[in-house]
Amino acid sequence: MRLSRSFLPTLKETPAEAQIASHRLMLRAGLVRQTASGIYAWLPAGLRVLRNIERIVREEQNRIGAQEVLMPTLQSADLWKRSGRYDAYGPEMLRIRDRHERDLLYGPTNEEMITDLFGQSVKSYRELPQMLYHVQWKFRDEVRPRFGVMRGREFLMKDAYSFDADYEGAVNSYRRMMLAYLRTFQRLGVRAVPMVADTGPIGGDLSHEFLILAPTGESGVFYDAALEEQDWLAQPVDTQSTESLKGFFDNVTSWYAATDEKHDASAWEDVPQERRREGRGIEVGHIFYFGTKYTQAMDISVTGQDGAQVYPEMGSYGIGVSRLTGAIIEASHDENGIIWPAEVAPFRAVIINLKPGDALCDALCDALYEVAPDDLLYDDRSDRAGAKFADADLMGHPLQLIVGPKGAVSGVVEVKCRATGARYEMTPDEAIALITRG
Ligand code: ATP
Ligand code: MG
Repeated sequence: MRLSRSFLPTLKETPAEAQIASHRLMLRAGLVRQTASGIYAWLPAGLRVLRNIERIVREEQNRIGAQEVLMPTLQSADLWKRSGRYDAYGPEMLRIRDRHERDLLYGPTNEEMITDLFGQSVKSYRELPQMLYHVQWKFRDEVRPRFGVMRGREFLMKDAYSFDADYEGAVNSYRRMMLAYLRTFQRLGVRAVPMVADTGPIGGDLSHEFLILAPTGESGVFYDAALEEQDWLAQPVDTQSTESLKGFFDNVTSWYAATDEKHDASAWEDVPQERRREGRGIEVGHIFYFGTKYTQAMDISVTGQDGAQVYPEMGSYGIGVSRLTGAIIEASHDENGIIWPAEVAPFRAVIINLKPGDALCDALCDALYEVAPDDLLYDDRSDRAGAKFADADLMGHPLQLIVGPKGAVSGVVEVKCRATGARYEMTPDEAIALITRG
């Protein structure tokens, strides 16, 4: 994309309404704009990041056998009356009435709808397990929307739902999802720590929140310093083997000692004094086993092995896709701007032409740009070099390919790595190899 013709409106001034770095940077780098309280429009660069996150989330869901569907944002109130949650949900639910006086709502989550869809089609235990997911906008009328997309009212979530014939099956689904989440966050270039979460009346230990440690996080966490080093994905896992899944899960959860004392005081006691850390975390995912809560309430059963009707065991699994754009920035920025991890960056690299109009500079930049015009940003504006460098740092492109008149004569491209600040001089061919992928 040529910067001179693009819609990438960066801001020089720091917007007054933004309290945390990621919100400031998302506005300044031209990723989003607020259109109403807690509601955002995604501009081209922001949307590219959002799509990259979605793609990785999808690939890792598909990899464990989850199937993608797409459920609507608007739901019928009747569906929620069947589970009893229509009245219970409270003021976070946006309730709507159509011209025929029918009650609708903008979905805050989809347990009821997926359970109903499942029940319409699945009749026998032989068709289990099933794991379905979608990536869809949700609405929750948060009392205090804040921190930009981190706590919005309309936000994009990946939500998956598992259906199993029995508890053992449900546990396997849960463990597979734990694996998919750890893989997802690793590919996104962030470290999200699974922390035991409240299971409410269901009990047990099958609920984890995934937290990115950051001082601006809304959740307080106590954690074992050892988990900063732990590589949960070091061992291969056979997702078809209960034993292998158990081995993986036991290893991860023995290290989850990120805990608030309320949830797991004894695990905290076991952490040696010098390894105890206290911090804050941003919740980017939540996985939850809740048994037959919805299948029972909505009376959705299947024929079991012995011919009797059984209620399938369920779990639900959320990832805050739009929140992640903010959370990744919160975990990866400096005083000059965003530092995008390569897999989510809106562009692979920016090509900075220091003298547009100079025939040699233009020719060299064109040769670089041709490699992947859809995935590269070409700063062909006739601004001052300083302004271009500042924008490149602000927008956080992993690589900056700088072409000036001197280099253009001698065939030298200066490459700056945004994350480390390191600079290298390269031949045009080396620079082309660097930005050619796959
Ligand atoms: P929180 O405790 O932050 O309010 P939650 O427990 O209500 O979140 P879940 O119902 O578990 O959230 O939703 C799954 C994921 O969706 C969360 O882990 C979070 O990443 C994301 N999410 C929830 N609420 C919002 C919101 N208002 N804005 C952006 N993302 C959100
Ligand atoms: Mg939660």
